[in-house]
Amino acid sequence: MHNTDKLKRILHKENLRYTQQRQEVWDEICASDEHQDAEGIYNSLRKRQVNVSRATVYRTIDVLVKNNLVRRLNLDDGRSRFENKTGIEHHDHIVCLDCRKIIEFMDGTIEKMQTRIAKEQGFEIVRHVHQLFGRCLDEKCPNK
Ligand SMILES: [Zn+2]
Ligand SMILES: [Zn+2]
Repeated sequence: MHNTDKLKRILHKENLRYTQQRQEVWDEICASDEHQDAEGIYNSLRKRQVNVSRATVYRTIDVLVKNNLVRRLNLDDGRSRFENKTGIEHHDHIVCLDCRKIIEFMDGTIEKMQTRIAKEQGFEIVRHVHQLFGRCLDEKCPNK
């Protein structure tokens, strides 16, 4: 399904009007692979001269998360990050505690291991969150 159709469908379901501003919020999340927080998404839109209010950005993100188009990442620092959840491969995240850089990874061995462990415990996995927190070895990272 096209991105616009997905958005229209969930807005309709939520009794919200389809607007260009809401489309821009969804487009911004789809276009970015930076795991931005809500303020970052708002700033990116303003930088692109999109005339949208902060309230619309936050509200639209909530609707997108609620309807499974967007994933909310909780990185234990009180700032939720967001990423497109549709049409992208499953992946997990490594987070640098110093510069908050987020790296995506997918490892078949870990995935299989999780499935095996769950099975041994009498579970079938529906979803999982796997996050690694560490310090990146990048020279440009602060606190080096
Ligand atoms: Zn770092
Ligand atoms: Zn990601």
